[in-house]
Amino acid sequence: MHCQTIVLGAGIVGVCTALHLQARGRKVVLIDRDQPGSGTSHGNAGLIERSSVIPYAFPRELSSLLRYGLNRQSDVRYSWRYLPKAGPWLFKYWQNSAPAQLAVATQAMLPLVQRCVEEHDTLIEAAELGSLIKANGWIEVYHNQDAFEKAKAEAHALLSYGLRFEVLDRQQLHEREGDLSANAIGGIHWLDPKTVSNPGALVRGYNALFVKRGGHFIHGDARSLRQVDSDWQVDSRQGPITAPEVVIALGPQAGDLFRPLGYRIPLEIKRGYHRHYRPRDGAVLEHSICDVQGGYVLAPMAQGIRLTTGIEFAASGDPANDIQLTRCEALARTLFPLGEPVEAEPWLGRRPCLPDMRPVIGPASRHKGLWFNFGHAHHGLTLGPVCGRLLAEMMTGAPTFTDPAPYSAARFK
Ligand SMILES: Cc1cc2nc3c(=O)[nH]c(=O)nc-3n(C[C@H](O)[C@H](O)[C@H](O)COP(=O)(O)OP(=O)(O)OC[C@H]3O[C@@H](n4cnc5c(N)ncnc54)[C@H](O)[C@@H]3O)c2cc1C
Repeated sequence: MHCQTIVLGAGIVGVCTALHLQARGRKVVLIDRDQPGSGTSHGNAGLIERSSVIPYAFPRELSSLLRYGLNRQSDVRYSWRYLPKAGPWLFKYWQNSAPAQLAVATQAMLPLVQRCVEEHDTLIEAAELGSLIKANGWIEVYHNQDAFEKAKAEAHALLSYGLRFEVLDRQQLHEREGDLSANAIGGIHWLDPKTVSNPGALVRGYNALFVKRGGHFIHGDARSLRQVDSDWQVDSRQGPITAPEVVIALGPQAGDLFRPLGYRIPLEIKRGYHRHYRPRDGAVLEHSICDVQGGYVLAPMAQGIRLTTGIEFAASGDPANDIQLTRCEALARTLFPLGEPVEAEPWLGRRPCLPDMRPVIGPASRHKGLWFNFGHAHHGLTLGPVCGRLLAEMMTGAPTFTDPAPYSAARFK
């Protein structure tokens, strides 16, 4: 089969890239070894996170570093064995998290974050997926007055970004979430984000729209990618697929392709877990809530109440470790009446991350027709559609809605 563009990876980023290329007239074949939306895009907290204008930075205060050093926190945990390998990357991440560099990253990400909801809205409407979406924001919940006061000050410092939020005192919080336990003393309700009750189904729905509009989704292993004359070719269940252009949108597995091609892009993964629980005694969770101190999210999902964890630094292929989820579950049970888990085993996912907290979007410097779209870290579900648009605009020579320079692969020498 010959087409104009092959997109490798049918997570949120690949599917949205395929849709945007198709909308600009390209004949696209989308390839994945699994079903669309079955990778990291399946298991996240479902936040279309319009309010996260500051990227998720490495902690800089000595007190936080000492706390994390003990490796007993629920929000971040690491495998001691993995530290020597991750050390150089973590050092770059720490450097990029200094106030001046973080301000640069914030400005770089802003044009993407600002458009994230409207880009999803267009696709949600076209794919008729409105039943998966809630437009009631999410709530940061506090159980400690000092932390709550600090969070209020931080939220007010973000007013210049035009974000909408409400500070909830104890009573207002419990009016909004009647089944939270009494130790929840207040919250910040972020009003701009939307939430998805089944992120995997959202990606499959976007893929169905791509197919309905004439696109092809085919199973295949992206690692078979090779250059044949001036084209790119990949093996699939339907035989070899050939095209002059190919996009690597393989999320945490992108390195399986760009490394053998000689690109030294520092893509690292931050692992994270989820598990669903039945609510106890008919309890209801109306909003997605985040216990920032505990480092977990509780999200009402199609499968149950989804508890998602923060970050685990461990090798991609290391077995799942239940320490972090166990810690988060114990804390979550003090906040909301969780019942039995739905699944026998938790889900383990991998966030694809760059140390400067920006994705890689744009052309490969040494291979004609090779393009990148990966590394969306904590906000890939949020950014899939807007980053799909940006790459499609670049590939088709259209004016881009923002300067793509901050996301160039060339920033890594
Ligand atoms: C616990 C957790 C919570 C999160 N919460 C949020 C949130 O609330 N909001 C948010 O915006 N983001 C969130 N994220 C981040 C978000 O999920 C990711 O950034 C996003 O899913 C990455 O999408 P992707 O398409 O790049 O990667 P993926 O979804 O992983 O897609 C990559 C695809 O490539 C395919 N693939 C890999 N290798 C091959 C191969 N050799 N051949 C063929 N196919 C291959 C995989 O099967 C997969 O389908 C969270 C992540 C985690 C882990």
